[in-house]
Amino acid sequence: AANRRFHPEDTVVDVGGVKIGQGFFSVIAGPCSIESEAQLTTIAKSVKQSGAAFLRGGAFKPRTSPYSFQGMENDGLKLLLAAKKMTGLPIVTEIMSETQIEDFEDVDVLQVGARNMQNFRLLKELGKTRKPILLKRGLSSTIEEFLMSAEYIMAGGNPNVILCERGIRTFETMVRNTLDISAVPLLKRQSHLPVVIDPSHAAGIAWMVEPLSRAAIAAGADGLMIEVHNNPKEAKCDGAQSLTPESFDALMGQVAARAAFE
Ligand code: PEP
Ligand code: MN
Repeated sequence: AANRRFHPEDTVVDVGGVKIGQGFFSVIAGPCSIESEAQLTTIAKSVKQSGAAFLRGGAFKPRTSPYSFQGMENDGLKLLLAAKKMTGLPIVTEIMSETQIEDFEDVDVLQVGARNMQNFRLLKELGKTRKPILLKRGLSSTIEEFLMSAEYIMAGGNPNVILCERGIRTFETMVRNTLDISAVPLLKRQSHLPVVIDPSHAAGIAWMVEPLSRAAIAAGADGLMIEVHNNPKEAKCDGAQSLTPESFDALMGQVAARAAFE
């Protein structure tokens, strides 16, 4: 169960030796969407160099409009697996349907996006696997609903759940979403699962990623997920919130300094 009452110790999710939770802090970085081999290779090398522990990249994109770029799909997945081989970084990518589980066999961490947080069929099927799952909080979900979705995965026997707060919908319009920083202490008190903050989708603006990252670390998060693009202006998805490799490198300098005196 996700509830701390039944599991007082913090959970550490071990992704082939890369740990997250119980004091192990990790950064997941990469583009919103995989766009080409050159794009992914460039970003993968640079985020590794800067100290990211995981490479992210969307191949199947849950876009609000059906006319927006939907991702490179299986071709994108192939590029991501090649980047994993090249860099040695474990990879994180979004799974949209339970019918894809077999195709995602070599993906290290399966991401359940905000829009699928209550796709109970998907959660149940992921519960039958032992794959690490990065579960993102729904656009307008309460903490209790979020934890119940984690419970769906764990009830099937899969204990490897990482929670991700990515901002929620509020009346505020100057940010894409409102980062619910109180989610960190709340989730860590109510559950034993690792908590990762995604400041990129919360802010929607690149300059705000750094202060929100610092807030996440101060609040006790176990990791960060950051969108990075080598050419944010030309990005096919979420360019406005994407850090350049240079600004990501500067952020990682700060993260290392802060994590050291936690
Ligand atoms: C993403 O991480 O690229 C993404 C689509 O995020 P969310 O599901 O939080 O909107
Ligand atoms: Mn994105």
